[in-house]
Amino acid sequence: HFLGRIERLNPALNALITVTGEQALAQAQRADELLAAGEATSVLAGLPLIHKDIFCTDGVLTTCGSRMLSNFVAPYDATIVERLSQAGVVMLGKANMDEFAMGSSNETSWYGPVKNPWDLKKVPGGSSGGSAAAVAARLAPVATATDTGGSIRQPAALTGLTGFKPTYGRVSRYGMIAFASSLDQAGTLTYTAKDAAMVLRDMAGFDPRDSTSVDTPVPDYLAELDQPLTGLKIGLVKEFFEGGLEESTANLIREALRVYERMGAKLIEVSLPNLPLSVPTYYVVAPAECSSNLSRFDGVRFGYRCENPKNLEDMYKRSRGEGFGAEVKRRIMTGTYVLSAGYYDAYYLRAQKVRRLITDDFARAFQQVDVLMGPTSPTPAFDIGAKVDDPITMYLNDIYTIGANLAGLPAMSVPCGKVTMGDTSLPVGLQIIGPHFAEAKLLNVAHGYQ
Ligand code: GLN
Repeated sequence: HFLGRIERLNPALNALITVTGEQALAQAQRADELLAAGEATSVLAGLPLIHKDIFCTDGVLTTCGSRMLSNFVAPYDATIVERLSQAGVVMLGKANMDEFAMGSSNETSWYGPVKNPWDLKKVPGGSSGGSAAAVAARLAPVATATDTGGSIRQPAALTGLTGFKPTYGRVSRYGMIAFASSLDQAGTLTYTAKDAAMVLRDMAGFDPRDSTSVDTPVPDYLAELDQPLTGLKIGLVKEFFEGGLEESTANLIREALRVYERMGAKLIEVSLPNLPLSVPTYYVVAPAECSSNLSRFDGVRFGYRCENPKNLEDMYKRSRGEGFGAEVKRRIMTGTYVLSAGYYDAYYLRAQKVRRLITDDFARAFQQVDVLMGPTSPTPAFDIGAKVDDPITMYLNDIYTIGANLAGLPAMSVPCGKVTMGDTSLPVGLQIIGPHFAEAKLLNVAHGYQ
C-alpha cells in the first residue's frame, strides 16, 4: 500500500531520495513470520517507516541531502536504525532533507526542494521536510527526523503533524551525520503523540558508542499517556507572543490554550528574558560546530571527489567547492571565522555564555510551571523561493524553536488547527517544551489535547 503511494505521489512531492522497495518487502515478510509465530518483541513489528537521509543505513545510499555524499553507501547502521530494525520496522526508504540539515524550508537539498502536500507551491519546512511531507501525504505512518534548531518541530507545524524532539542525550547520535554535535537530537514525525510514544520507546536509551548519550532508564512512554491534566501548570512565554507572530497563528494558539484550561490546566505567564538572543547565539554556536564536523569531507576516504585534481590541495579545494552547496559554505565560513584566533572570545565564547543564560532562564521558568507553551513557527508554510535568497529572514523563522536546543530540553509540536490563506488552508503547530527528561509528561500533555 505505502510503496504504491510512494510510486504515485513522490514524483510530485520529492519527499524521498531513495526507495528501498525490495528490501522493504523482505523485511515485511520477516515481520509477518515473527508475528505469526508469536515471536515479535515490539508493537512496532511490521510498521512501515521512512528514515531521514541523515541516518547511516547499512548498504543503502546515505546522502544527507548533499552532493558531497551523493555516492556514499553507509557501511553500518546508525544506532536508531539498528534498534528500530530489531523491533521489526520495515524501512520504505530515505527522506529528502536540507543539505547537512542546514535550513528551514528544505530548499538547500542537492536533490531539489520538497513540496508541502497541503499546497505544492509551499515549503514543508526544514530541515526534516522530506520526512514531514512523506508522513503528511500518507507515504508512511512514521518517519525519523533530527532537530538541531527546530528541524523536527517546524516541519511538523507546517505539515500538520506531531513532531517530537527528546532531551539532548536521550536518543543516540551514533551513525547520525553530525551537524552541530552539542545541539543535534533524533526524534520522530508521526500523526499523534501516542504514535511518537510507541516509536520513542524503542529508539531511546543509552548507547556506549555515543559519549553524550545519557545512561538513565527509558520509562514506558505509553504508561502515563492518559494521566488527567487537572492542575497542570502551563507557562506562557511572554517573549513568544511579542514581535513577529502572525495574528491568525496567535489566535489558534490561544484557542488551544483555552482547551487546556477547560481540561483543568492553569495558565501562568513567564518570562525568558534572554530568549530574544537565541537566534544570534545559535547562528554562532551551530556554524562553529558545523565547520569542525564538516572538515572530514575532503574527498579522500569517502564522498564526492572532483575530476582530475592537479595536486592534493586542488583536490581538497575543488572537492569541497563542488561538493557543498551555498548554505553549507556560508555556515563553514561563519563557523571558521567565529572560532579563529582573535575572534573566538568576541563571538564563540560570548555565545556560549549567552547560551548558559538562556538555559538558566528555562530552569527558572520550570521552578514555576510544568511545561511551556507557545507557537512553533511565526507563520504557516511560506512559498517555495520566498526566503531562499535571504538567509537572515530564513534564520528568524527558527526564533521559537532554537531555545530548546540551546538548553537541551525536550520539545514538541502538535497540530492545533489551520488558517485559510487564499484558496488553501495551512496547518499551524502548538509548541510544548518541558524540563530535561520530561518526555513522558510532554507526551501526556499532547495526548490529552489530541
Ligand atoms: N533551521 C535551523 C538551521 O538551519 C535548524 C536546522 C536543524 O534543526 N537541523 O540550522
